[in-house]
Amino acid sequence: EIIKSDFPILDICIRGKPLVYLDNAATTQKPKRVIEATTNYYETQNANIRRGLHELSEFSSSLYDETRKKTQKFINAQSSNEIIFTKGCTEAINLVANSYGRINFKHGDEVLVSEMEHHSNIVPWQMICEQTGTKLTPIHITDDGEIDIEDFKNKLSEKTRLVALTHISNALGTINPVHELIELTRKTDAVVLIDGAQAVGHIPVDVQELDADFYAFSAHKMYGPTGVGVLYGKKHLLEQMPPYQGGGDMIETVSFEKTTYAPSPRRFEGGTPNIAGVIAFASAIDYLERIGIENIHAHETALTQKLHEILSEEKFTRIIGNPKLKSGIVSFVMEGVHPHDIGTILDTEGIAIRAGHHCCMPLMKRLNLSSTARVSFAIYNNENDITVFANAIHKVKEIFYP
Ligand code: PMP
Repeated sequence: EIIKSDFPILDICIRGKPLVYLDNAATTQKPKRVIEATTNYYETQNANIRRGLHELSEFSSSLYDETRKKTQKFINAQSSNEIIFTKGCTEAINLVANSYGRINFKHGDEVLVSEMEHHSNIVPWQMICEQTGTKLTPIHITDDGEIDIEDFKNKLSEKTRLVALTHISNALGTINPVHELIELTRKTDAVVLIDGAQAVGHIPVDVQELDADFYAFSAHKMYGPTGVGVLYGKKHLLEQMPPYQGGGDMIETVSFEKTTYAPSPRRFEGGTPNIAGVIAFASAIDYLERIGIENIHAHETALTQKLHEILSEEKFTRIIGNPKLKSGIVSFVMEGVHPHDIGTILDTEGIAIRAGHHCCMPLMKRLNLSSTARVSFAIYNNENDITVFANAIHKVKEIFYP
């Protein structure tokens, strides 16, 4: 209840019922301190960064850089120069595809992605593969919703240039053994990008321990503002990568004859960034650290187990995926009921869930489904939310199985 009271939006009513927010994989709600940090920035700190010589600009620049250091420590990167701010996880992946991919992929090479990837970790690779004549190869998943490690081993070869894998599946909640998968990749020259959109803020992430070459995530899925994302990249890789976008702030010198570029991270942050968002993101990290990622993970795991117990006892209801390691995301279907109908009926009870393909059309195809209903937890959810949800599921059953 104390944590819930940190989130003003959780006091509102939807359709006359108290909001029960169970769509956290899409975006989490924001604690007061993050909202206040945004307001405070515009009220007392607003100036463009890295440009002015005036005090206000120096101040906002230093707050921006402090957030970079905080992010570095949060995921245990070696240097803050390995942290690039983007507008989201999607842009972070596109940056690697268009910069690293453009100079390193060639005809006959291969990029591996798993069948459970979000479109954000498929389409950017598909686009650059089309441009460079590289083959995009899917790694199969098992019926339980885990990456098929044997298939992965078989597909890894000297042709593999890059492997892109999600840390946690946004549709199934599977926690992939990314450390083990990265280790396997080390037998080749390929680099690995991990899509951490559903992992950071839910489980401990240490990019050095994982040995990830690139790691991408979004602030808005970890209690931070929208419009801010992070790309972590190993220094030696970022150093050889060309800029992704040209503009102000990413250069050293410009002339019509030749332009030279600033080192990372500035090389990849052309133009005025989301300064307010980045500065408020620091407050989200502080908040997560105060509660403790281990505590958050334990809490979300307990809620997931409880929900599994409830849904497994429901007739006509099937949980999708049965991985050994799972986060706070539960996808399910009900016989003869379209997931959109489940979502709509739950909405009349003030409950927000997600229903659809979850931007994972290839995964849905693999599972022979068109869509699922998905509950996803965050730190402010509690057993009462599950009770309200379970009662609403009974309403769905009353309507569809009278
Ligand atoms: N990857 C995964 C696993 C996701 O869940 C999402 C968001 N649903 C993304 C990438 C894209 O994140 P964003 O829209 O914040 O760029």
